Amino acid sequence: MQVAQHSMLKPSSWFRSLQPTTKLCTPSVSNLDRGSKRGGRGLVTLGRQPEVPAANHLSNLTLECPPSTLQQQQQQQQQQPTSAYLHLPFCKRKCFYCDFPVEAVGMKTEAQRVQQRMQDYVKLLCKEIKAMQPLNDAPLKTVYFGGGTPSLVPPDLMARILDTLHHHLRIEPQAEVTLEADPGTFDAPRLRAYMDLGINRISMGVQSFDEGLLKACGRPHDLREVYRAIEAVHASTIPSWSLDIISGLPRLSMDSWRHTLQEAIHAQPSHVSVYDLQVEEGTPFARWFSPGSAPLPDDDNTATMYAAASATLQDAGYEHYEVSNYARPGHRSQHNQVYWRCLPCYGFGLGAASYVEGRRFSRPASMPKYKQWVEDFASPDSKSRGVPGLSQPPDSQEERMLDAVMLRLRTADGLDMRSFASEYGADAARRALTALEPHFQDGLVLAVHEGRAPTGPTNLGSLHDQLVNARGVRLADPDGFLLSNHIISDVFAALSALE
Ligand code: SF4
Repeated sequence: MQVAQHSMLKPSSWFRSLQPTTKLCTPSVSNLDRGSKRGGRGLVTLGRQPEVPAANHLSNLTLECPPSTLQQQQQQQQQQPTSAYLHLPFCKRKCFYCDFPVEAVGMKTEAQRVQQRMQDYVKLLCKEIKAMQPLNDAPLKTVYFGGGTPSLVPPDLMARILDTLHHHLRIEPQAEVTLEADPGTFDAPRLRAYMDLGINRISMGVQSFDEGLLKACGRPHDLREVYRAIEAVHASTIPSWSLDIISGLPRLSMDSWRHTLQEAIHAQPSHVSVYDLQVEEGTPFARWFSPGSAPLPDDDNTATMYAAASATLQDAGYEHYEVSNYARPGHRSQHNQVYWRCLPCYGFGLGAASYVEGRRFSRPASMPKYKQWVEDFASPDSKSRGVPGLSQPPDSQEERMLDAVMLRLRTADGLDMRSFASEYGADAARRALTALEPHFQDGLVLAVHEGRAPTGPTNLGSLHDQLVNARGVRLADPDGFLLSNHIISDVFAALSALE
């Protein structure tokens, strides 16, 4: 593999402008808050619709009256994005399980034709950024380069993107700026070149410490490159980095999984993401394998692997703060928490989704269509100038409510029931609690309190009784998280009966 050297690169202008106040080598110690790109609406299927009994026993639970729908819409519209996701779609080749919008460029990434493709794409991306008219002048607090394999894009092109972004939207000095990076695409000097541009976090897709499994997945790197990449990360002293692994791979044994977990911990990342393999339509894996059938692990094995990851990583000092994510103190992904908190986010690039003023908008996922879309959007005659998607209707109150349930229940912070009642009404909150009660009695749901540990079904009474003094609800780890789809489906069914 050839890795370009970029030690002569100059910091991008936005980073130079903030040098005096930024200490990129000092990890943040505060507890801070991408989809997950692998999370999302598609995870939940609606189950049976349970009876929602009249909630007389809830009369002692003071749930605030909701503001009017108009107020809600106004609040939603006032909440302006301070985050941006940028899609960089290039990969050496396409992994057998991947359904992301990706351009496979081959293993010779320094070839002129590949570099030219990247330059052309970055030009297009910058055109999109420049054509957007931001809604306000609030600077960006998080910037996330996802892909694809963004670490294939040379630092001089990354500098161009960051400069354009800073010029048009401004990036605040303490912003979290994340780059997804794969082993075999960078070394320590290249990583330092990215850091010189202001990138202060990387998310590295290792996926497995088993050479055979890396091959079976069609990963473009081998184990030797994984260990070299870990060395490069340590040599670079980047303040925060995440290591991604995947469970549920074909022929993954429990021994191999324990080995991967141990090696992940030995690498000492500040954050670990543990994704369970989803067999996506249209991928080679979908042609070769059926979910739940050999050689993929069955449900019991999948559950055992999930529980082993949760226990092993927590024993090693990682907080299990979202279904698939673990962090050392102060190293939660701020960008991903924007998604999980249903906060707005700009999107740029091939197939990128944005969520602005309550409206979701996905850009075309094929390169020719994206190119045409940017040309139309940036045209002086364009009727859709401003922010893409604003001409379409916002998500309904019901859609926002279901998103809130699904995304917030996937986090350790859980669902704040008083805010939920305030936003969506006391009746919705009571119905949600009624649907959660049997799972609380089974130990899958916990009451969340301010300043003390969550509580389960003790002599303190029902979930409703405990919530009188609690802040909200969360799913228990690991069993509640494991059954999150089932539990969330029950809440959805209860809420679907709302007038
Ligand atoms: S490296 Fe990541 S984005 Fe690229 S093909 Fe593999 S899984 Fe997909």
